[in-house]
Amino acid sequence: MSNIDAIKTALEERLQELTVRTKEIDDDLREPSDDDWSESAVESEGDEVLEEVGDLALDEIAKIKLALCKIEDGTYGVCTRCDKKISAQRLEALPSATTCINCS
Ligand SMILES: [Zn+2]
Repeated sequence: MSNIDAIKTALEERLQELTVRTKEIDDDLREPSDDDWSESAVESEGDEVLEEVGDLALDEIAKIKLALCKIEDGTYGVCTRCDKKISAQRLEALPSATTCINCS
């Protein structure tokens, strides 16, 4: 893995971006609802979407953190299921991947 530093930087940037986004979502969800019932109905629908986006972001954050840990301990790029190397192409497309294409 020659470009591990580039991958690490990309992962850290993505992590930062996601952290900011989840915080924004969190703030948004905490905003008090409007008193007007029709508007608050729309708002709660929007909240559900926000929660879903937030869950996805949290999921990705967990994966990125795992990938960063793996970079630290030198096991990055090795499939967690079959112990084979994950292809460079796959890692380029999905730097937070912890399984090879066959095991994903
Ligand atoms: Zn595998």
